[in-house]
Amino acid sequence: MARNIGSRYTTHQILGRGSAGTVWLGEGPEGPVAVKLLREDLASDQELVGRFVQERTALLGLDHPRVVKVRDLVVDGNDLALVMDLVRGTDLRTRLDRERRLAPEAAVAITADVADALAAAHAAGVVHRDVKPENILLDMEGPLGPGGAHPALLTDFGVAKLIDTPGRTKATRIIGTPDYLAPEIVEGLPPRAAVDIYALATVLYELLAGFTPFGGGHPGAVLRRHVTETVVPLPGIPEELWQLIVQCLAKAPASRLRASELAARLKDVLPLLKGIPPLDVDEPDSDPAAAAAQASEQYEEDAYATGTGSGEPGPRRAAVPLVPGASADSNRDTHTSMRVPAPDELSGGPLGTARAPRSAGAPRPGSARHKAGVVRKRRITLAVAAVVVAGALGAGGYLVASGDEDAPPQDSKQSSQP
Ligand code: ADP
Ligand code: MG
Repeated sequence: MARNIGSRYTTHQILGRGSAGTVWLGEGPEGPVAVKLLREDLASDQELVGRFVQERTALLGLDHPRVVKVRDLVVDGNDLALVMDLVRGTDLRTRLDRERRLAPEAAVAITADVADALAAAHAAGVVHRDVKPENILLDMEGPLGPGGAHPALLTDFGVAKLIDTPGRTKATRIIGTPDYLAPEIVEGLPPRAAVDIYALATVLYELLAGFTPFGGGHPGAVLRRHVTETVVPLPGIPEELWQLIVQCLAKAPASRLRASELAARLKDVLPLLKGIPPLDVDEPDSDPAAAAAQASEQYEEDAYATGTGSGEPGPRRAAVPLVPGASADSNRDTHTSMRVPAPDELSGGPLGTARAPRSAGAPRPGSARHKAGVVRKRRITLAVAAVVVAGALGAGGYLVASGDEDAPPQDSKQSSQP
């Protein structure tokens, strides 16, 4: 049934549901539009409504072919709505769920589109803060690009910032989606443009591999991996592409590429990727029973490593609660209430889950191949894990940058983490 939003728009049917609200197919004076109705609790928050109106200019001002254009913001009674261009197609998460992995050429073409969108946003002083496949829309009516990829458009600009009102989230809380959160956010620094680059590199890795570099298990464990772990190489892609990923997943924000440079370098790599099929990489175990078996095995290893073995069934692997009281989850919703972990929590507590870096082609923890080798390799694993934990404790510091997002890297202040 049609419903009026303000005096100019009507909504007809649901296109999708998100964490901040529901997106409807609507009709406006200039034709079909997408209308995002913000969640009631957000819309009834007077302070948020005030900010929403304040943000108007920034959101409405972003005009780029790779950004889903926000046409209007409507505050009407209890409704708070963003009116956007309608993208006829699907979001990248849906495509990824269907295909699991994309051919490298298509993955890079999509990533280059999003890098273009970010370049425009960053130049306008807007940081997205929630780059992930759910917020990348594929325009099925647009012309096919390299690797048969439809044009990709970035959506949901500024929504994370709107939700991040003082009072709604304390200064020590994190907004974002754990798998895509840059390490400097985990450490409590303000989000600058480089957080979007980190998130986009994570998306590219996921498109190629079928899983994110640091995801899986409890959000607290995911946060810690961003800070302490190194990314596991993907076999079968050109070195130029791998180096781009590594550089953009750098722990130090100043070491990452700017969006415009990333876009240009990705486009340079495209010709090398013609005809390469989706990668055949070892994937994380998706069988919950096998994962649970692996979890108790790992707990025993952890208990053994820390000398606290009691034979009691312990927490799931990677279920170290950096966020007390939170339940383990592996979904990719935008979280609005994660706590910034303390430095000692990040460097590995008594039940540390810092995973030993895998070498190329090595089975991912939890996979069937890994499970088969677990018993045989237990002692070796323990030794490696001990070295990694010691390394994380001893040499966990790295350079971080703060300051203006458009300041060149050499202007960045440097500080060391304890
Ligand atoms: P949230 O940020 O609240 O999670 P999104 O903006 O990501 O919500 O939208 C949720 C879903 O709605 C998307 O995954 C997509 O399927 C659909 N959608 C969002 N914006 C548009 C749009 N402009 N045109 C068409 N569909 C859209
Ligand atoms: Mg979204």
